[in-house]
Amino acid sequence: MELREIGEFGLIDRIRKRMTATDPALLQGIGDDVAVIEMHGKVLLATTDILIENIHFDRSWTDPFRLGKKALMVNLSDIAAMGGIPKYFLISLGLPKNLSLPFISSFYRGLKEGAKRFQVDLIGGDTSLSQKIVINICLIGEGKKGDLLFRKGAKVGNDLFVSGTLGDAALGLKILQKKEFMGRPKGLIEKHLSPCPRIELGQAIARHRLATAMIDVSDGLLIDTTHLLEESGVGARIWEDRIPLSRSYRKWIHSFSKDPYQIALTGGEDYELLFTASPEERKKISGLARSLKIPVTWIGEILPQKKGFHIMRRDGKEYSPGHLGFNHFK
Ligand code: ADP
Ligand code: MG
Repeated sequence: MELREIGEFGLIDRIRKRMTATDPALLQGIGDDVAVIEMHGKVLLATTDILIENIHFDRSWTDPFRLGKKALMVNLSDIAAMGGIPKYFLISLGLPKNLSLPFISSFYRGLKEGAKRFQVDLIGGDTSLSQKIVINICLIGEGKKGDLLFRKGAKVGNDLFVSGTLGDAALGLKILQKKEFMGRPKGLIEKHLSPCPRIELGQAIARHRLATAMIDVSDGLLIDTTHLLEESGVGARIWEDRIPLSRSYRKWIHSFSKDPYQIALTGGEDYELLFTASPEERKKISGLARSLKIPVTWIGEILPQKKGFHIMRRDGKEYSPGHLGFNHFK
């Protein structure tokens, strides 16, 4: 049997079953945005992500400054999804020997800008020769046990919310890949090259205990909703016409798809927050969104697991999502 038959998530499931963790201080191991370890009354958070040349980025359209910044931002997004505080990071690099020193220096300037913005310190890493650029960051953070939000925790009857707008980064990437559109809708392209994690929003949701479960949308709305539903043991319905789309997305989507929602549902790298909350919190959630000036949209409802996961279309017809966005190896 080959990896392609089980896919990225099938592989992670197998690893999770085989490598059972035993330390009682481990509050969350494999299966969430970050690992959570209890330590002297506080909790330690740890997460890691990898970026590989020609899989996650292309040197012909990503400048080293944005690349360095993005490598850190994608890790910060996982801490945001727990409502945690990021603190330190390690970076391991695989680099080709003909890479120019100005490229590396610009990469580290991007990394430094991101680190300054979110007050995290680089504390180490590793460096090796590689045919393509490989970037791996391990980010460490902290949080308060009672405040942190996991993928599990969604309850039947909860509302489902998402921050920002969806599909912009995936559409930005499609535009970068089509030479004739190169450089035109700057906002969409920038969303792909320079994502911004919702750290402040995640922390505020956690601090005010407004949500029951949370995940960041990194692989696509459908896939990440599925992760949250699976970990919580519930089902859901999303109303397609409530999915938040930016003006620029609405303008450009027609050049790529007849279905205006397809990329918003399945495209990755939005790094928005998806969370569930009791209907009693609606007012507080919209108040928080206003005060942080971050749009937060009520897009669905949590159902019993046996009802499954459905998308309600504008014409009132429902469907179960089959094609679930990005999955490595499949
Ligand atoms: P995210 O999209 O939030 O980064 P992933 O889907 O990559 O999360 O990973 C899901 C879970 O599986 C996480 O807990 C992650 O730490 C774990 N994981 C991913 N790859 C591996 C691996 N090769 N070995 C062990 N755990 C892994
Ligand atoms: Mg995540």
